[in-house]
Amino acid sequence: MTQVYNFSSGPAMLPVEVLRRAEQELCNWHGLGTSVMEISHRSKEFIAVAEQSEQDLRDLLKVPANYKVLFCHGGARAQFAALPLNLLGDHTTADYIDGGYWAHSAILEAKKYCEPKAIDVKTTVDGLNGIKPMKEWQLSDNAAYVHYCPNETIDGVAIDEMPDFGDKVVIGDYSSTILSRPIDVSRFGMIYAGAQKNIGPAGLTLVIVRDDLLGKARREVPSILDYTVLAENGSMFNTPPTFAWYLSGLVFKWLKEQGGLVEMQKRNQAKAELLYSTIDKSDFYRSQVALANRSWMNVPFQLADPALDKVFLSEAEAIGLQALKGHRVVGGMRASIYNAMPLIGVKTLTDFMVDFERRHG
Ligand code: PLP
Repeated sequence: MTQVYNFSSGPAMLPVEVLRRAEQELCNWHGLGTSVMEISHRSKEFIAVAEQSEQDLRDLLKVPANYKVLFCHGGARAQFAALPLNLLGDHTTADYIDGGYWAHSAILEAKKYCEPKAIDVKTTVDGLNGIKPMKEWQLSDNAAYVHYCPNETIDGVAIDEMPDFGDKVVIGDYSSTILSRPIDVSRFGMIYAGAQKNIGPAGLTLVIVRDDLLGKARREVPSILDYTVLAENGSMFNTPPTFAWYLSGLVFKWLKEQGGLVEMQKRNQAKAELLYSTIDKSDFYRSQVALANRSWMNVPFQLADPALDKVFLSEAEAIGLQALKGHRVVGGMRASIYNAMPLIGVKTLTDFMVDFERRHG
């Protein structure tokens, strides 16, 4: 069978070692004669999974003790609503940095609960999309928090250096970049991320929230989105997505075995450099993202002649390079190269790109 490399933006590739382990223990987990997804979330065996996975995540991200880690349902989009419902307190507004599709989607949801101030930071210089310098961002004084998305999955635009927001409560949508490199959690009020890119299977969402921000939820917040309720119940106010949680726990272990986030940063940088340098070397391919804002995780690129898009995709698919079609709002191609994508997968892609250009250029 052809070796497959899956460049999907999410649900995305998982480490093969994790899948093999899950396969091995699927029908007889820890000698119980049953699978982990068939046991009670309140059993001592599952509680051990939950505790260990939280500890491993805390170790990886160096989460300070005054932060709660919540394992939630509903994807990152549920957090678009949960965030204002939990953290607005007495405020009527919050600042939202609008750097792309997902940041904008968070603003649309927040409008149901407050009057968010949308701060458009997108810019296009010489045809390249990027982010305006921070000195041009007009933050307000009366905002409950400032929300931003450091990696726009669709646009491939990243804000890698955390902007200096001073003493504001900063919220980060880390859905497509969490665990790809070290971050300083202590500079955030809250971080959230849907699991299906760099964590594990869809169905689980991580929330890491500073504990002094709890207890201000609006009365009408659904209990299942109330951070205080979730924290008090160890993320088990209702039945959690146990299989996704268990699998994410295996991914955390895998990350630790690989050398943690410093090692991931090295690998992710090497993969991204290889891909961008292949794009930049030729006029046949181009990136529409400004150098300073190129994402290491999601790399959209265009063929100079879009008439070749279909041939490119079908030839790539035939040799096992899957899911390279760009998002409909951007077009062209997009290679998502999260932690589980090995360098050899990116090398196979760049070799194919060079060969495709030789034959069609
Ligand atoms: N935020 C970002 C940055 C994303 O990439 C996505 C999905 O791709 C979302 C939010 C929405 O995530 P979900 O589908 O888990 O609700």
